[in-house]
Amino acid sequence: MPESVLLKAREAIIEVPDVGLSILGISHRSDWFMAMVDELETRVRSLLGLSDSYHVLLLQGGATQQFSMLPMMMLRGSKQPADYVHTGYWSGKSIPEAKREGPVRIVWSGSAEDFHRLPNDGELAFSQNAPYMHYASNETVEGIQFHRVLGHENVPRVCDMSSDFLSRPCEADRFSFLYAHAQKNLGPAGVTVVVLREELLDRAPSDLPKFLDYRTQVESHSAYNTPPVLAIYIVLLVLRWMNEEIGGLDQMAQINQSKADFLYRLIDSSDGFYRGRAAVKDRSIMNVAFNLDSKELEKQFLVQSQTRGFSGLDGHRAIGGLRASIYNAMTLDAVEELGDFMEHFQRQNRLRLHSRSAA
Ligand code: PMP
Repeated sequence: MPESVLLKAREAIIEVPDVGLSILGISHRSDWFMAMVDELETRVRSLLGLSDSYHVLLLQGGATQQFSMLPMMMLRGSKQPADYVHTGYWSGKSIPEAKREGPVRIVWSGSAEDFHRLPNDGELAFSQNAPYMHYASNETVEGIQFHRVLGHENVPRVCDMSSDFLSRPCEADRFSFLYAHAQKNLGPAGVTVVVLREELLDRAPSDLPKFLDYRTQVESHSAYNTPPVLAIYIVLLVLRWMNEEIGGLDQMAQINQSKADFLYRLIDSSDGFYRGRAAVKDRSIMNVAFNLDSKELEKQFLVQSQTRGFSGLDGHRAIGGLRASIYNAMTLDAVEELGDFMEHFQRQNRLRLHSRSAA
């Protein structure tokens, strides 16, 4: 989280200015909280340039709940399969959930190539009459990211943007449905932002559990049950920060690109000491996944980086290796500090490897 957001969150836990209460004791039915939700929604709408034909929802259950909730609305009872693109760990998690609700066609899978790369347009034969198509814009685990929008204009596009939402402009009006859990770029876990076109609601079967029916969430303004008030407030603080301190999505994208360019340059100029995991054209600007020569060296990297005050540089348990996640709140200065450490580690170990092979 940006430091200014943390300071305001700390203040609110003790006492929200103008309210005189801790945020932990403020009712989600209070005028204050309703105004916060309205402001949050307005800010998301304005950052994404959304028209009134979209709803903005703040839901619970993480992105994982959307893996099921979306096909419950869009796929149940359908004879036509939904198109899914299987590009890595997280899109792979969404597919079996969709299959529980109806037919699914895997348009492309990167599994045989260990998800090192993303498909080209020529490899993606999307159906013209699928009830919807689904993909993840950024595969958090493998560090690969689409730098274009996929699919036909006449089939509803659905995108899991959990790990790159609001990190760059995203042409939101070309999507029928997008979702992102807050925990990467937006705030703490506990809130998931869902943006959906009004017309999709007509597809919802009438017998869905109320809580899992988007119509209920729209009607109750995301407060059908008790929402996570603190987490939602922090998302609002992050959106204010993005507008007022960063200057909007174009500026955010520029900063994110500079951070990623810096790290990839370092990796590419390391003479093979650091090896980027992703195909160069598909490199993620959020998750820089890389490897060293051996698991042993990667372990040493992690231990020493922790001693230097870095954390979370280990790769996801599914694939191992190393990963620098450089979400919106990570500053270029912090990334440069990591770069200093990486150069130092490389020098130190090159010498050691050289002297070992000379001996
Ligand atoms: N999709 C993507 C792209 C993710 O990165 C994650 C979490 N890392 C998820 C889905 C799952 O999110 P949650 O844990 O909030 O259910």
